[in-house]
Amino acid sequence: MRIDLHSHTTVSDGTDSPDELLALAKAIGLDVLAVTDHDTFDHLPAVRAAAKREGIELVEGMELSCELAGKSVHLLAYGMDPHSDGLRMEMKRIRAGRSDRLPRMLERLTELGVPVTREEVLAQVGEAPSIGRPHIADALVLRGHVASRDEAFRRFLADDGPAYVPRYHPDVRTGIELIHDAGGVAVIAHPWGRSSRQVLTEEMLTQLVADHGLDGFEVDHEDHDADARRRLRALATELEALGTGSSDHHGAGKPTMQLGCNLTDPEVYARLRARIGQSSD
Ligand code: AMP
Ligand code: ZN
Ligand code: FE
Ligand code: FE
Repeated sequence: MRIDLHSHTTVSDGTDSPDELLALAKAIGLDVLAVTDHDTFDHLPAVRAAAKREGIELVEGMELSCELAGKSVHLLAYGMDPHSDGLRMEMKRIRAGRSDRLPRMLERLTELGVPVTREEVLAQVGEAPSIGRPHIADALVLRGHVASRDEAFRRFLADDGPAYVPRYHPDVRTGIELIHDAGGVAVIAHPWGRSSRQVLTEEMLTQLVADHGLDGFEVDHEDHDADARRRLRALATELEALGTGSSDHHGAGKPTMQLGCNLTDPEVYARLRARIGQSSD
């Protein structure tokens, strides 16, 4: 069984539509795919229909923008009830924060000599319900200021970059609770990628699993080198947590993270499925 538990569509900051993503999943021989757009459930109707058509087992998912000690931490939710009021309200607040910071980021980019307009960014956002930095990156590419999303992040948009403006994030412990209240399974995305590595120590991951019911964390992810994967896998085993593997596919937006480049062990997936709906009562 080939199982990929983290992917994005044009409903957030991926470049493949739900139809294109599920067709690709079929073409590369995936059996199971979780689609986990950022801070929204708007992708679900289209991915359900596309998964049915392609004969792919769908895990309904979402990636919630959280923080811990001031660092960005992404939390994957699987199998949650998308009608849960608590989760919906928090997601709405996160999306509002995404829109609110745009003018200040555009001011910074103008000051840095690489201006783009609100209209240029919104053209990249398209149908997506919220604005992500990758959309700003795409507008910078289109203007010819940079050659790729990656260069845009490296020079301007990264968390420690000169055009970065923070936005609202709930604490990761609140995120876990909201996902559990909605009957979902909570798994930290790329814990040792980017800035979250500084705060997600082995002690902190242990505490989140033991005291806050965190279900697991990604082990096999392109942001993790071989040593990080080894240590995270050992920690997941020790904690009896779910150590997952996934591509975090964003289509052309992240060329090095193509669908199926990391997979989840079928035994881990079976345990994940068994946990869906278990923590809401
Ligand atoms: P935002 O959602 O606006 O906070 O932007 C963060 C998103 O940008 C992450 O969820 C990633 O999908 C994406 N991202 C972060 N770093 C990079 C990078 N170096 N290249 C392309 N996309 C990135
Ligand atoms: Zn993304
Ligand atoms: Fe992420
Ligand atoms: Fe992601």
